[in-house]
Amino acid sequence: MKVACVGGGPASLYFSILMKRVDPSHDITVYERNPATSTYGWGVTFGAELLSYLHVAEPESARAISESSVSWDNWVTRIHDRATVTEQAEEGFGISRHRLLAILADRARALGVRVEFQREIAGEDELADADLVVAGDGVNSVLRERHADHFGAEVRVERNTYIWLGTTKVFDSFIFAFVQTEHGWIWCYGYRFSEDQSTCVIECAPATWKGLEFDQANEAESLILLEKLFADILDGHPLIGRPQADGSAHWLNFRTLTNRRWYRGNLVLLGDAAHTTHFSIGAGTTLALEDAAYLVAALHGDTRLRPGLAGYEQQRRSTIRQFHKAARYSAQWYENLPRYIDLPPMELVALQSRRESSLLPHVPPRLYYQMGRTVESLCEFKHRLGSKLARTRHAYGDGLSGGVGS
Ligand SMILES: Cc1cc2nc3c(=O)[nH]c(=O)nc-3n(C[C@H](O)[C@H](O)[C@H](O)COP(=O)(O)OP(=O)(O)OC[C@H]3O[C@@H](n4cnc5c(N)ncnc54)[C@H](O)[C@@H]3O)c2cc1C
Repeated sequence: MKVACVGGGPASLYFSILMKRVDPSHDITVYERNPATSTYGWGVTFGAELLSYLHVAEPESARAISESSVSWDNWVTRIHDRATVTEQAEEGFGISRHRLLAILADRARALGVRVEFQREIAGEDELADADLVVAGDGVNSVLRERHADHFGAEVRVERNTYIWLGTTKVFDSFIFAFVQTEHGWIWCYGYRFSEDQSTCVIECAPATWKGLEFDQANEAESLILLEKLFADILDGHPLIGRPQADGSAHWLNFRTLTNRRWYRGNLVLLGDAAHTTHFSIGAGTTLALEDAAYLVAALHGDTRLRPGLAGYEQQRRSTIRQFHKAARYSAQWYENLPRYIDLPPMELVALQSRRESSLLPHVPPRLYYQMGRTVESLCEFKHRLGSKLARTRHAYGDGLSGGVGS
């Protein structure tokens, strides 16, 4: 099969690797508009499940990704100068986006994929001899936009403003820092992605952003103010940005994308071109890599192209729907920060970790917290009762059956 992949992001590159592994006779080219060394973004996070998944799907690149990742196992939440809460958490991982793409591009090339940098594709008609065109060209996909009616893309522009920055401060934990200003709260999600750098995603409500005059500041001015606001966590380290063409800072509003259809003829959407999920659930790269694996499996499960693409669309759309829901509630939690921020610190942190709940926005926060505590106590009670029953069974033989804990 002759395959053209548009975009050299994680989705396209991983797809090309897995396709070649399944059948080395596939003729695959990845077209990336930017030079090899340039990429947006700093580090991305992922969980242990992704690493296990990658090790099964393609051990060679998984090993390199694993070796280039850093990890943490606790989360620190700083609420202005009021409190700092540290919690043990599941192990989380971070990797430089640049390093991830270099690993994937090297592995793709080693398997015989052609990776052409500085090659922008304006439409699939430039790729007329391809049997399959994969649109892995990101959230603003031009290939998708050319058939906007068919794909039925819907974009929701999220309310808060954010900026994706780097820093030389190396955080030991995943850190949330909420800072109060006279114009409202501004907060930072900070995590390490290499031995000497971390990511800082900084977010605030539009009124805070305007009040702090970020709308009038150039990038250097924005970074100076942000370094002052987050001085406590930065320990004198600088924030590093990426100015826009006019020199202003790269503040954005997240765009949540859904598509009614994911393929048209031999053109198929992959990764961010098909869907995006708010960065506060840190899942976009993981989902893009999983899309790639599902598409490869679907194409080889049925040798006819159309049923393969239909199967991929059906499977992935239903999975992504759940992530969209979780991401919506998560984004909403931060949009409604004033509803939670004055809670006692432990309650705030507990509700932040349950921000994907569909119930939370409809229940008074303290009541929701108490309900959570009650459920936890009941589970603990059930567990203890179960252990007690098991011990009783052991002592008296198994004359007992059914009931709690069995
Ligand atoms: C602030 C922020 C934080 C995030 N943090 C995380 C995180 O912690 N964990 C996580 O899993 N995800 C995270 N994400 C999401 C993640 O970055 C994306 O979901 C992921 O990069 C999607 O991969 P992709 O390959 O589909 O698209 P992209 O990575 O966007 O790649 C698309 C590529 O296509 C190229 N391209 C575009 N148009 C053309 C064209 N016409 N011709 C040729 N090339 C083209 C682009 O240059 C780009 O290289 C975050 C996103 C944001 C905004």
